[in-house]
Amino acid sequence: MGAGRFAPSPSGPLHIGNLRTAILAWLFARSTGREFLLRIEDLDRARAGAQEQQLHELEAVGLEFDGPLVVQNDRRAVYHAAVDNLRARHLVYECYCTRKDIAQAASAPHAAPGAYPGTCRNLSDAQRAEKSRSRPAAIRLRSEVSEFTIQDELSGEVTAPVDDFVLLRNDGTPAYNLAVVVDDGEYGIDQVVRGDDLLSSAPRQAYLAQLLGYEIPHYAHVPMALNAQGQRLAKRDGAVTLEDLSEKGIDPRFVRFGLLESLSLPGASLEAALAAFDPARLPREPWIVEPDEFVHQLMPRASHNG
Ligand code: GLU
Repeated sequence: MGAGRFAPSPSGPLHIGNLRTAILAWLFARSTGREFLLRIEDLDRARAGAQEQQLHELEAVGLEFDGPLVVQNDRRAVYHAAVDNLRARHLVYECYCTRKDIAQAASAPHAAPGAYPGTCRNLSDAQRAEKSRSRPAAIRLRSEVSEFTIQDELSGEVTAPVDDFVLLRNDGTPAYNLAVVVDDGEYGIDQVVRGDDLLSSAPRQAYLAQLLGYEIPHYAHVPMALNAQGQRLAKRDGAVTLEDLSEKGIDPRFVRFGLLESLSLPGASLEAALAAFDPARLPREPWIVEPDEFVHQLMPRASHNG
């Protein structure tokens, strides 16, 4: 049996867009007979108390997970071991560039936009020794491709550039792209459902997964919740967390109802939604959220059902 997952970063409370993505990941996993795992991605954006709060929020909308909770901060040694594996195969190198160095080199005439220009890729031992005196090194992948293609359930074939991306930052912290690939691989996650802001990262992650000997997962990048200006939904947009909505008299069951309806699924329960779930019929457009309207739409229901 394979597994799907939800992998929030504990940077604050989940908002209704995050919860909608979590529900979608659950629907994809359960409708394909997979387990559903929860992983806390706390390597950089962790805020005290946010992990507990997010667990509580996921429970409040009725999502249940299998297996042990995976917390990335407990797994640093595993990510370092993956880098050692690549190092033994000459697939990594030390990089001493500052952001400014990269920006300058990347503006050179033939540089690929946004890609690491390869400044430190072929340093001699002497040059490395010299540079290491002024700055600790980040570790980059020595990529052997310039792009990679994945299949996405909603977007079809997606090709994106793969540069020499960072695996370990220069303070030793494993980078998101490394941790996500190692964890998905180690826990047998063969289905990745997440917001489509990560679609362009999927090819580099798939390439790394392949280098590390993991099966490339099945991907579904789902449209996200945006505000009326087309920006990613955020706290400043109004009542967008379960706590904000509770204060307005909307309890989590009704929030879930609204989220399922926004996916054109029956809102009565997760099971009813699961029975009706068909990825081919999911909305392909972002979910534009006007928090006041969302509250108004749910208010009559909340007050009738007490
Ligand atoms: N932790 C990432 C986020 O909250 C998601 C990573 C993933 O699903 O691969 O945006």
